[in-house]
Amino acid sequence: MKNSVAMEATRRRAQHGANGKSSEEEGQSAQWGRAWEVDWFSLSSVIGLLCFAPFIVFYFVMACDQYQCSVSQPLIELYQGETTLLSIWSRAPSFTWSAAKIYAIWVSFQVFLYMCVPDITHKFIPGYVGGVQDGARTPAGLINKYEVNGLQCWLITHALWYANAQYFHWFSPTIIFDNWIPLMWCANILGYAVSTYAFTKAYLFPTCAEDCKFTGNVFYNYMMGIEFNPRVGKWFDFKLFFNGRPGIVAWTLINLSYMAKQQELYGHVTNSMILVNVLQGLYVLDFFWNEAWYLKTIDICHDHFGWYLGWGDCVWLPYLYTLQGLYLVYHPVELSSVHALAVLSLGLVGYYIFRSTNHQKDLFRRTEGSCSIWGSKPTYIECSYHSGDGGLHRSKLMTSGFWGVARHLNYTGDLMGSLAYCAACGFGHILPYFYIVYMTILLVHRCVRDEHRCSSKYGKDWKRYTDVVPRRLIPGVF
Ligand code: NDP
Repeated sequence: MKNSVAMEATRRRAQHGANGKSSEEEGQSAQWGRAWEVDWFSLSSVIGLLCFAPFIVFYFVMACDQYQCSVSQPLIELYQGETTLLSIWSRAPSFTWSAAKIYAIWVSFQVFLYMCVPDITHKFIPGYVGGVQDGARTPAGLINKYEVNGLQCWLITHALWYANAQYFHWFSPTIIFDNWIPLMWCANILGYAVSTYAFTKAYLFPTCAEDCKFTGNVFYNYMMGIEFNPRVGKWFDFKLFFNGRPGIVAWTLINLSYMAKQQELYGHVTNSMILVNVLQGLYVLDFFWNEAWYLKTIDICHDHFGWYLGWGDCVWLPYLYTLQGLYLVYHPVELSSVHALAVLSLGLVGYYIFRSTNHQKDLFRRTEGSCSIWGSKPTYIECSYHSGDGGLHRSKLMTSGFWGVARHLNYTGDLMGSLAYCAACGFGHILPYFYIVYMTILLVHRCVRDEHRCSSKYGKDWKRYTDVVPRRLIPGVF
């Protein structure tokens, strides 16, 4: 109830923003989603990303295809005049209709599973929350319903993959690797199509006009999105579908295809490839096991759907989150037992911190502090915040458990896991380490963005919290 007042105030601000007017009232709107006004730095970053992100993806994949995953070699050859951009481009496999057919079947199958197969797994898997679930309240005050069936889709897709590899042999398990670059063109087509559709839809027929944000800058609107939760019909939710299905379900299948390729090329699978598959598989399964919780994260609660999510889920995520497996196809690294054990331990400890931290906050917020954290009642700071209409509301910020050690230890755990994937590839090349660099930028930026929002929301109470828990990610350091 207290939120509905805040949402109503934000809704009124959204209407002003949608009309392109700026208003004093919009001062507090930083609490929701992306910016209302675009400064020159944001605008140049947006244009830079729109222009260069597709080439970053192409560069890494091409470096593996043409230069055995060396990131520096293409640059050296270009510098020394031994090759040209045109010849690199012309050597890259182009779009093929067979890849388009594979991609169309894949996406259609995921749409079918998402839309036509309601979740039944929650009925027989103890502890799993699936089926129809409520999302968080949107700025306009809506609570969307979601069909949470990601775990079921993942299980069906992987069971079919296994059945094909073992019994049916309809296609080779190396099919993804074998069509990797042609599939990338198809993924780009979908990524741009869905982002352009979402952009146009926001102007012509938005799902909820009051949840739209317009900045007046077309590039920023296109990239960061206008609609909050665009949908087709009642159930096809763009955010949940594109992040989870062409993005995260694909992640483990891509890794399995890399594993099959190693087997085909070298007659065995290396322990590093197994480690990457296991650790990333754990992360993916965790995501689907907790898909209902994901509805309450920043992605769903604050981000709008634009190119950043649409193209990112179709291209950036499947192509760059899987670089380790791709690298290991070209460089089949066999780790020593000590190295493998160290990587496994780092990955598992990181996962434990990531999961437990998220779980502690979820439990604390659900029970309003009436729970046990590390064997005792949690400590917290009572805080208050004002909604746009001046109404006073209360909330709690936990200061015990992992949330008393640092303010975002869930990100720290995530980063430890990310580093483990990279370290599984040994130290021969920097390409597999792109992931940890990217995740560090992503999560530090997210942390700063989130804390800026919390600080404007809670004011002096946030200051009291940061005095008690002074570090963001690493106790005693940052
Ligand atoms: P969090 O789950 O950390 O949520 C942040 C919010 O929690 C704050 O805005 C605040 O919201 C509330 N909060 C902050 N401090 C406290 C406290 N001490 N006690 C209680 N509540 C508090 O953020 P995300 O949604 O970004 O992250 C979810 C997970 O997803 C993370 O583990 C992250 O690592 C992962 N992730 C992974 C990505 C990937 O690509 N692999 C990308 C992004 C995220 P309020 O306003 O309610 O107070």
